[in-house]
Amino acid sequence: MTDVTFAALGLAEPILRALAGENYSTPTHIQAKAIPLLLAGRDLLGIAQTGTGKTAAFAIPMLQKLSAGHVPPDSKQARGLILAPTRELAVQIEQSLRTYGRHLNLRMAVILGGVNQSGQVRTMARGVDILVATPGRLLDLVQQKHVRLDAVQVFVVDEADRMLDMGFIRDVRKLVAMLPRRRQSMLFSATMPEDIASLSREMMNAPERIEVAPQGRTADRIVQMLYHVPMPQKRQLLSKLLEDVALNRVIVFTRTKHGANRVAEHLSKTGVAAEAIHGNKSQNARQRALDLFKSGKARVLVATDIAARGIDIDHITHVVNFELPNEPESYVHRIGRTARAGGDGVAISFCDPTERGYLRDIERLTRNKIEVLAHELPELPPEQASQQGLRPAQNHSRGNHNPHKPQQKGGHSDHNPHAPKKRGGSRPYWSKERRTQRGSRPGGPAKATNTAS
Ligand code: AMP
Repeated sequence: MTDVTFAALGLAEPILRALAGENYSTPTHIQAKAIPLLLAGRDLLGIAQTGTGKTAAFAIPMLQKLSAGHVPPDSKQARGLILAPTRELAVQIEQSLRTYGRHLNLRMAVILGGVNQSGQVRTMARGVDILVATPGRLLDLVQQKHVRLDAVQVFVVDEADRMLDMGFIRDVRKLVAMLPRRRQSMLFSATMPEDIASLSREMMNAPERIEVAPQGRTADRIVQMLYHVPMPQKRQLLSKLLEDVALNRVIVFTRTKHGANRVAEHLSKTGVAAEAIHGNKSQNARQRALDLFKSGKARVLVATDIAARGIDIDHITHVVNFELPNEPESYVHRIGRTARAGGDGVAISFCDPTERGYLRDIERLTRNKIEVLAHELPELPPEQASQQGLRPAQNHSRGNHNPHKPQQKGGHSDHNPHAPKKRGGSRPYWSKERRTQRGSRPGGPAKATNTAS
């Protein structure tokens, strides 16, 4: 957060009123930097991940620009276009636009794959002010002549690196080629691989560059911890951790869709309300799962990386990496689901012996050694342990004599794996200064109660 006000950024009254209604008191860093530049008509390259407030950073100036001297769109046209890699993110961006633009009279629509196109075609027949779309379906509708891109004045590519991961960059390039040359453009990406850097050069004109979190850096407010636990015991450990009511709103990440289903089923069977979200589910089933989680009816959302990407849910208390991601950047994205917009959070990872390489990559990227905790599960029977490639006590860290006893560090005699005060492990070199600057923050991450001791 910053010490400037939204009013000082030059925003119009109806937008200020909507922001006040959302209890946004001050702009986040990216908002404070980006909004004045965008209002002045500059192009922008934003290196920022979700949780930084980047959606409002591009949505608010776009709303202001398109509402000033409003010219209604013609049939099939859109005046503002936002491309997002996933359906969930597209829906979420549209919801944010509606929230910030609630006192403006702009028409918005979302176009995404996985659902019947006829409703989207009907909406576009009247034209819209702002269109949020996933690239594939939009390209399809443009080629079918249901959508025209010749009136786009403001253009945004959100989560460009994920577009690349998901193979959408060619579609994005084709769409860019159809836009008018005179327009304002923005591109947001958490990382900047060469393909994205070249796309940004092609689609923007001398953009301002704003970077709010260096690549690979994890939020300082997230308490990170890890259990070495063999795969067959992960579900049991998860159930054990969930006995703690402090794990109130939890996202559990798995690597595969099948794994997500299995974990959600296991939790449901043990009486924990859980929903799974992944790419094999229909758009409606995914939205239903998200709604149940957002409303608190489901305590746990089990997700794969792609399905969860960009999902914006506030007050997630814990992220559990049931399986470590094979791309270390995904770890940063995953744990960024908690501690959003100034809050705090806890990230707990489970590491099987086969995942140690992933762990090394993550620690190298984040330049942080994750604190290891011991769990209290019984050891695997010897034959299972040897199948897992485990020596008897290998699943317990730091050569603890009794692996089932909690580790004691820094003179703490209690053991609470979810409490922030346990963050005694080696800290990233850059965090020391910030820690002193912040001093003691009111309200630590999770108001955890003890279960593990
Ligand atoms: P984003 O990075 O756009 O996904 O936003 C992350 C979260 O921060 C969302 O839940 C927003 O509603 C929230 N948010 C964005 N800007 C602000 C702000 N200035 N003050 C408080 N919350 C904000």
